[in-house]
Amino acid sequence: MSTGDSLERLEAEVVSCRACPRLVTYREQVGATKRAAYRDQDYWARPVPGFGDPRARVLVVGLAPAAHGGNRTGRMFTGDRSGDWLYRALYRAGLANQPVSAGRDDGLRLLGAYVTAAVRCAPPGNKPTPEERDRCAPFLRRELSLLRHVRVFVALGQFAYQTLCRELALRPRPAFAHGREVALADGRTVLCSYHPSQQNTFTGRLTEAMLDEVFARAASLAASPGGAGCSTYCG
Ligand code: SF4
Repeated sequence: MSTGDSLERLEAEVVSCRACPRLVTYREQVGATKRAAYRDQDYWARPVPGFGDPRARVLVVGLAPAAHGGNRTGRMFTGDRSGDWLYRALYRAGLANQPVSAGRDDGLRLLGAYVTAAVRCAPPGNKPTPEERDRCAPFLRRELSLLRHVRVFVALGQFAYQTLCRELALRPRPAFAHGREVALADGRTVLCSYHPSQQNTFTGRLTEAMLDEVFARAASLAASPGGAGCSTYCG
């Protein structure tokens, strides 16, 4: 039975949300003061909706928009170095039509993939509070229900993984580790990756080869008729 919900309706609700006073203040302050390199641009400065293919079989979940990335451009992981890494990897895995993600009119299309985040507003220091995470969780919950073709979840970082596991009611939750693969009872799979944050990529904790391996596995699982196999962990 149809619930009447849709990705379009969800997006409209997300972009107008003002439920977290601290994050509303921060996202708008950042948008007003801007970074010098972007001073001629109009920042989005609102919650950032998910982006991608409505028939996605791979769902990528990040932490939250970056202050001068998604909060500037209005698209998840767009306009910062983390996004450069992510979309290049999606492109190499055949999940995007181009490796470049610069702005909402750059022609990027995701092919069987969708990108979202646990929290939709840029948080100070990239650290949402537990209350902010919980307030934003219904948006992710609705995405999980609307994206009904998803076979593989890719959690970028521990925060996204924990939030996703809560929404998937995965208990006990296996510890987060890069490359960890958790097979769900319904045949879907959660893959863990370090977040492509500058902290991880500059230090070499995460390399492009490591990220490619995760997305190659995600694409392979998504293409297989039964969905999950399990090479690392079966919960
Ligand atoms: S973080 Fe989520 S719940 Fe909080 S204001 Fe932004 S969109 Fe709304």
